[in-house]
Amino acid sequence: MPAPYSCHLIDDDEDILALAASLLRDAGHDVCTHTDADRALAAILADPPDCVLTDLMMAGTDGHEFCHRLRTHPELADTRIVVMSSKGYRADQDRAMALGANRYLRKPIDPALFVDQIVSVIEDRIAVTFWGVRGTLPVPGEGSLRYGGNTNCVSLGFADGTLFIFDAGTGIKRLSDEWVARGRPHLDCHIFISHPHWDHINALPFFGPLYQAGHRICVCGAQHGGTRMQDLISAQMDGVYFPITARDFAADVRYRSLHEESLEVGPAHVDTMLLNHPGACLGYRVRRGGRRFCYITDNELYPQGDPNHDPAYFNKLADFVRGADLLVIDTTYSDAEYRLHRDWGHSPVGEVARLADAARVKTLCLYHHDPDQDDDAIDGKLQDAWNTMAELGSETRVVAPMENGRVWL
Ligand SMILES: [Zn+2]
Ligand SMILES: [Zn+2]
Repeated sequence: MPAPYSCHLIDDDEDILALAASLLRDAGHDVCTHTDADRALAAILADPPDCVLTDLMMAGTDGHEFCHRLRTHPELADTRIVVMSSKGYRADQDRAMALGANRYLRKPIDPALFVDQIVSVIEDRIAVTFWGVRGTLPVPGEGSLRYGGNTNCVSLGFADGTLFIFDAGTGIKRLSDEWVARGRPHLDCHIFISHPHWDHINALPFFGPLYQAGHRICVCGAQHGGTRMQDLISAQMDGVYFPITARDFAADVRYRSLHEESLEVGPAHVDTMLLNHPGACLGYRVRRGGRRFCYITDNELYPQGDPNHDPAYFNKLADFVRGADLLVIDTTYSDAEYRLHRDWGHSPVGEVARLADAARVKTLCLYHHDPDQDDDAIDGKLQDAWNTMAELGSETRVVAPMENGRVWL
């Protein structure tokens, strides 16, 4: 339960005011409502709130002008501003953000999401959503009802609306479906591909925003020799393997080939590291405001005692993920299964647990489950990891996220 926050709502639509106010009040927050911008400004300056939510089109003033006026007052520097509008034009969203808004929210209000959206702006939180947690192949059916059957896809939603997506397995279709259900809001989105094995890229053509103008989408990932990221993506959409080509994208789609490097991306700092897997495969670390999220798949950690165990690589990876609030990482096999799949490019859960403990990771998320494992087998890997952590006396928490699960950082 977040702290009670003070919010001022300004809108000339009494119904919207009543709905937004009741949602926030029901969650325990203090709310003042206004239909007049001048009176609202006087009340806001008298006692600066945590958040101001303003409509874009109001009689006598507009949200852009009101946003600009609020930002001329230094005493409101810590007050977050959310501009709400039914207008879906990219130019209006860009202008609101340029004038100092922290978030542009498209109406109608979604009662299921609204309070989380506002609190995430006030607290600068990041929503981590798991859209698919399986590796290699989608596994629909009775054995995957709890954890879900879709392949690799995890997203980070930042308070300003920026979206990071890690991998484009079949889980990205679920993300795309939610975007449709939310009224197709404009996206500023980076898609970070770990590597171009099928289970990490083959559902990218099913990501709806690619086919609609107004979205900014950057697809990033490791170059393979002379093959650039855009060629890796367009090759699977050349008209033979898929009937729509990458030339049919209507969004502003860019590509970025990455190496081991550090870069500033939107509201976050991103570092990359080459992983132990066939071909060039990148792990990602995202840092924002003291929080750390790591996405490490696919990756083979040879267990201690194995002739291929490489302490230098173990330590390098431990340094990379050190102190992570959330580490999403390849734990394809149980320790017993791994003995039959050595050198396949994936890790046994016990060695990953040792890595997370050595790196003082706060929460370890099991990920990229083998397609031959049903839900009960994933439960078994989770129990194995808990046992390992108990033996180590570790403070690292271990979870096995389910498809459609969401946590906040
Ligand atoms: Zn994979
Ligand atoms: Zn792979």
